[in-house]
Amino acid sequence: MQRLLMHNPIAVASLWIVAYLLISLVPLGVLLLYPAPPGRGFWLEFSVALGFIGLAMMVLQFVLTARVNRIESSYGIDILLQFHRYTSLAAFLMVLVHPMIVFINDPSTLELLNFPEAPWRARMAVIAVLAFLIMVVTTIWRQPLKIPYEPWRALHSILALVAVGFGFGHALGVGYYMSFFWKVVLWSALILVALWLILYVRLVKPWLTMKRPYRVEAVEPQRGDVWTLVLRPVGHEGFSFQPGQFAWLTLGVHPIGMREHPFSMSSSGDRPDRLEFGIKALGDFTRSIQTIKPGTKAYLDGPYGVFTTERYWDSAGFILIAGGIGITPMYSMLITAAERQDDRPFLLIYSASSWEDFTYREELEALKDNIDLTIVYVPRHGHEGWDGETGYVDQDLLERYIPLHRGSRQYLICAAPVMMDAVETALFDLEVPITHVHMEHFNLA
Ligand SMILES: Cc1cc2nc3c(=O)[nH]c(=O)nc-3n(C[C@H](O)[C@H](O)[C@H](O)COP(=O)(O)OP(=O)(O)OC[C@H]3O[C@@H](n4cnc5c(N)ncnc54)[C@H](O)[C@@H]3O)c2cc1C
Repeated sequence: MQRLLMHNPIAVASLWIVAYLLISLVPLGVLLLYPAPPGRGFWLEFSVALGFIGLAMMVLQFVLTARVNRIESSYGIDILLQFHRYTSLAAFLMVLVHPMIVFINDPSTLELLNFPEAPWRARMAVIAVLAFLIMVVTTIWRQPLKIPYEPWRALHSILALVAVGFGFGHALGVGYYMSFFWKVVLWSALILVALWLILYVRLVKPWLTMKRPYRVEAVEPQRGDVWTLVLRPVGHEGFSFQPGQFAWLTLGVHPIGMREHPFSMSSSGDRPDRLEFGIKALGDFTRSIQTIKPGTKAYLDGPYGVFTTERYWDSAGFILIAGGIGITPMYSMLITAAERQDDRPFLLIYSASSWEDFTYREELEALKDNIDLTIVYVPRHGHEGWDGETGYVDQDLLERYIPLHRGSRQYLICAAPVMMDAVETALFDLEVPITHVHMEHFNLA
């Protein structure tokens, strides 16, 4: 039984969900335990329950985003962040509905919105809800509001602390369910865990990362405006990883500065002493890579992620579908397979703007000598004399190449969001089992 639970990813993932439900509901249960205060009518009690569940769910958001390896390895960062977004919205809704019910139940309580006159317990509630509201708005509309990622991330952490801190302060101030010391202690412990997690991710982890520095050995230009950054560990043995995984990279500055960016390793998973990253010049940080001098200090927090061939050791082969810079995790999977003399068939369907933009093109061709690798290049437009595929990776194209026994392969997709959505739908229409399709999004927010 224990073995089944340990090795079955669905069982492990389900256990985490049960843990999530328990942790968001048990703190409420604790408040209702002896000595329970007398009830004050269904609607008021219901609204208070929503408030407490919302608060417990907010605390749990800190766990979801704390890069806890055990949780992350059950779902992958994509799913975890999606879950974080949806559960945050659910918590926000509860926190909003909580006062609304109170106001409808007793309209005289609307006076509590008069901020200068209101007691502190009400002011704290207003501050918590406003912080939560700003957090939701700046997250959903970050790009239209043109808020750069890093300031957004710092603001997000601060607002989260304000929302939880003031939300808890409000509950303490009202005191109806918190009038017993041991209940306050239990809830305080929950809040302290949240505080510790944010300190851990923002200070302790960067400090640990700092103790394992790397040095830039080379920065090599590649096709498609991509630069390979080669890192060597300094004074430690580096880390091995499952091909396809990623790490948070900080270059030149102190990791506590929180200027880290996620990148998939593009080198062999079995070479911890030489880690490579293929980085496409797209924004401020990625464009600066080409100017980085050998010898620059670097820091890595990783490895993370579940987008890897390693999890499917029993698969008969792999279909890798990459668009543009989405080739980096695939390249790592293929190099590692070649080094391990993996004799299973690999089909790589690789799309890019033009023939000149296929990053690692020559290296991929060379890999064909070592593994059973078929590559279908799909440039958006073919050049003169090109008689291969062109355009987009669509259902017709996939049907021409993927084997008839669709379920005999695992499918890994990494590309721009539009292409990933299209390929996912096409694979679904081609009756590829949904559990065999795995995706890595390079855009987290
Ligand atoms: C799991 C994963 C693996 C990735 N692997 C690669 C790779 O192998 N090669 C590659 O070229 N790119 C990869 N990326 C994308 C890379 O992280 C972003 O392109 C880079 O962080 C953009 O930073 P910028 O300042 O150059 O661009 P900006 O223009 O500032 O940002 C562009 C977008 O990138 C995201 N982003 C920016 N800064 C950060 C940050 N600090 N942390 C998280 N996201 C951020 C935001 O969504 C932002 O809207 C990966 C991303 C993820 C999530």
